[in-house]
Amino acid sequence: METILTINNLHKKFRHVHAVNNVSFEIKKGNVYGILGPNGSGKSTTLGIILNVVNKTSGSYSWFNGDLETHDALKKVGAIIERPNFYPYMTAYENLKLVCGIKGAPLEKIDEKLELVGLLERKDSKFKTYSLGMKQRLAIASALLNDPEILILDEPTNGLDPQGIRQIRDIIRHIASLGTTILLASHLLDEVEKVCSHVVVLRKGVVLYTGTVNGMISNEGFFELEANDKQSLKTILQQHPAIDKIEENESKLIVYLKESLEAADLNKYLSSQGIYLSHLVKRQYSLEEQFIQLTSSAK
Ligand code: ADP
Ligand code: MG
Repeated sequence: METILTINNLHKKFRHVHAVNNVSFEIKKGNVYGILGPNGSGKSTTLGIILNVVNKTSGSYSWFNGDLETHDALKKVGAIIERPNFYPYMTAYENLKLVCGIKGAPLEKIDEKLELVGLLERKDSKFKTYSLGMKQRLAIASALLNDPEILILDEPTNGLDPQGIRQIRDIIRHIASLGTTILLASHLLDEVEKVCSHVVVLRKGVVLYTGTVNGMISNEGFFELEANDKQSLKTILQQHPAIDKIEENESKLIVYLKESLEAADLNKYLSSQGIYLSHLVKRQYSLEEQFIQLTSSAK
């Protein structure tokens, strides 16, 4: 699979803030990547560096296997990292015409991209009459005018109402389905879960997880168990090869797995050892629980 961007051991220090701390990841063509992290975790700084608007402290990144100079590579990148800013008294069409001039994109692209973001009917309305969601969609259309290889969005749904959020997410998924690679930064877990195939989790500038969103969701899970004789239950569980660690929570045992194990198989094993459970629940972490765990456990 073609590589769009490679980031190696990137650092950014602002005086005493280590905003980006040894970040490495790779972006492959056709995927949708999320940089997920709480506010202040270094998402915008990372995007600023790869877009050449923030100077890195150390480390490296290379666009398109380093085949192009950054300046030329960035012509194949569409990015929205600030609030959309267009001329308020000009129409959407007129604003995009100016952008076509700057980017050297053909004017036929304007209607095509306005249609893609659902603004074709409003192309002759002045920008100042647009809602925030429409402004954001116009910014996406503008970023797509020259058919970039990758679209980069920083917190694309910030400040929007639920309907606006949904429209933007639908558009991002649609653009991805047409083959454009996407990198978006978000502090919203459900946004990344709904829109992205891959995720880089950042906390205080440090990468805590990188991989597929599914890989993050599908750990082996854990059991909640209860039996009259809690001590023997624990002793017998400790001998099972699939069991990782055991915690006590009031009358229950919380049993974490290192390999997959079905509830029925565990129950059978325990009864063969003379243990009869009064309570058995298998739970899987949601991505949200994992995100909270990931972002709170790393000190
Ligand atoms: P995020 O986008 O994840 O919210 P940022 O990349 O904006 O995070 O910020 C990461 C850290 O770097 C924060 O602690 C922020 O205060 C700091 N920071 C960002 N830009 C600057 C700057 N220009 N000068 C000083 N500190 C900055
Ligand atoms: Mg930010």
